[in-house]
Amino acid sequence: MPSVGDSIDAYCLKCSLVLDHIILFKVNGVVKRVQCRTCGAQHQYRPGAQADRKSPAEKKPAVRKTAAAKKADAAQTAGREAALAWDRKTRETAPDTPVRDYALGEGYKINDVIRHPTFGVGFVEKVVSDKSISVLFSDAVRLMGMNIVP
Ligand SMILES: [Zn+2]
Repeated sequence: MPSVGDSIDAYCLKCSLVLDHIILFKVNGVVKRVQCRTCGAQHQYRPGAQADRKSPAEKKPAVRKTAAAKKADAAQTAGREAALAWDRKTRETAPDTPVRDYALGEGYKINDVIRHPTFGVGFVEKVVSDKSISVLFSDAVRLMGMNIVP
């Protein structure tokens, strides 16, 4: 399983090719956003090659639907838990706590408060590796990259 900051093959819409991308962040262990090493565009992760190869015959059976539905329920529950934890954290955080704008190339430590252009204010809960942090946002906990200079 590749981690944040690692390379992954993904389909780039700008380049119209499956190319080497950097993993920007993951949610619940799933790669969500990547950056193209060729053109620098950031976008949702699309596992291009594999998806293109899939024929209708390989379509998942109905049994899988239940599993997918269960997964969606779990994600919803996780979302609610994140919202509650985020509310609590917001109340507990001193009003004069500095909020840093999130940037992939910078380093963060536990209890840092960051602002992400899409996800809003987040609290660094854990430094997962020298290149990734676990961040509590109001809708989910995301594994975000740091110290990554493309
Ligand atoms: Zn590209």
